[in-house]
Amino acid sequence: MNFSLTEEQKMVRDAARDFAQTELKAGVIERDTHQTHPTEFVQKMGEMGFMGMMTDEKYGGAGLDTLSYVLVMEELSKVDNSCSVIVSAHNSLAIWGIEKYGTEEQKQKYLPSLASGETIGAFCLSEPEAGSDATSQRTTAEDKGDFYLLNGTKNWITNGKKAGIYVVIAQTYPEKKHKGINAFIVEAAWQGVSTGVKEDKLGIRSSDTSSVMFQDVKVPKENRIGADGFGFKFAMQTLDGGRIGIAAQALGIAAGAYELALAYSHERKTFGKPINEHQAIAFKLADMAMKIEAARLMVYRAAWLKDEGLDYAQAAAMAKLYASEVAMETTVEAVQIHGGYGFVKEYHVERLMRDAKITQIYEGTSEIQRVVISRNVIKGQTYLDL
Ligand SMILES: Cc1cc2nc3c(=O)[nH]c(=O)nc-3n(C[C@H](O)[C@H](O)[C@H](O)COP(=O)(O)OP(=O)(O)OC[C@H]3O[C@@H](n4cnc5c(N)ncnc54)[C@H](O)[C@@H]3O)c2cc1C
Repeated sequence: MNFSLTEEQKMVRDAARDFAQTELKAGVIERDTHQTHPTEFVQKMGEMGFMGMMTDEKYGGAGLDTLSYVLVMEELSKVDNSCSVIVSAHNSLAIWGIEKYGTEEQKQKYLPSLASGETIGAFCLSEPEAGSDATSQRTTAEDKGDFYLLNGTKNWITNGKKAGIYVVIAQTYPEKKHKGINAFIVEAAWQGVSTGVKEDKLGIRSSDTSSVMFQDVKVPKENRIGADGFGFKFAMQTLDGGRIGIAAQALGIAAGAYELALAYSHERKTFGKPINEHQAIAFKLADMAMKIEAARLMVYRAAWLKDEGLDYAQAAAMAKLYASEVAMETTVEAVQIHGGYGFVKEYHVERLMRDAKITQIYEGTSEIQRVVISRNVIKGQTYLDL
């Protein structure tokens, strides 16, 4: 087993770290407070190649591996999780499926502007009545011969108001249940597409989350992704990869909070010594470090499995579940280590604590990850089978 990163992976990680620590950190509290979308940083991330990280160079992407993507997600997430969720939804949820299952025409038409970051992508699966139970899609795509007629409302869409391209999941044959679902590429500029208000959230506050409405939108036949009825499998496979991105986000949140708590524990003195000389604080740091290390190994391995072309669904679900729980625990402890200072915005850990919560909810809640994992475990799938 080789646990070392390549020179290229280290370079990409260092570039992301430098960008996050020097550029994103300066205004992150302000953007979070006022829910200001980090538009200029999205542009910069496009220039740095972060908006088309795993996209083939022939479509204008950076052509990097999943591990490089994870390293970037981790570094961005130590600081600004609104930026990292934009990167994650765009790369893993919008671009991935078009590149994996799209036609050559679809790839040539849509990937270059997505990979450069000029156009932002979004993934529309959830609905007011369909979250964990994604099979109960109420959005319909009626087959009208030359086109599909799309009608319905999608909820909680990351990049909802900023996206130029939506990957939309909708029901074509209700009688076939989940086997009647399709996936489509829909342009935001088309007639009948509109968005709701930006959600006022607990965390990742400057990212754009909104509902997206489709009213009699004519979707050309050539914009369906994959075979007729492939949409549900497509969505589930998209989420398998997406979970690696969110697991990396959770890992970054935990690592960011830990680094802040560790530094603070050296500076802050009580009863005549640094607080990390009190065993209660030292042990918290030990537990945090150990759990982050375990989460990191799980997340990197899930990325490695994907890069090797091996089955990564179970590893991704486990990595996402574990890393998000570590993110929550670690950020709560980081606030505790900061005492009263942890409770105010200036010290960053309270924001990371608020951001951590979403990693247990989106792209499958922790309960749903356990449903996925237990189903595989009961079937006899052991994690270490390669
Ligand atoms: C900020 C944000 C961004 C998001 N971005 C996107 C996006 O870009 N695209 C998109 O399509 N969606 C997005 N979502 C939606 C997200 O994926 C859903 O909120 C999530 O899947 C949960 O669905 P729900 O909210 O309907 O909760 P519900 O499904 O109603 O679940 C409620 C509770 O019941 C539990 N539960 C449900 N079913 C089971 C079960 N079978 N067993 C055990 N427990 C169960 C859940 O775990 C949860 O605790 C986003 C959500 C948020 C908040």
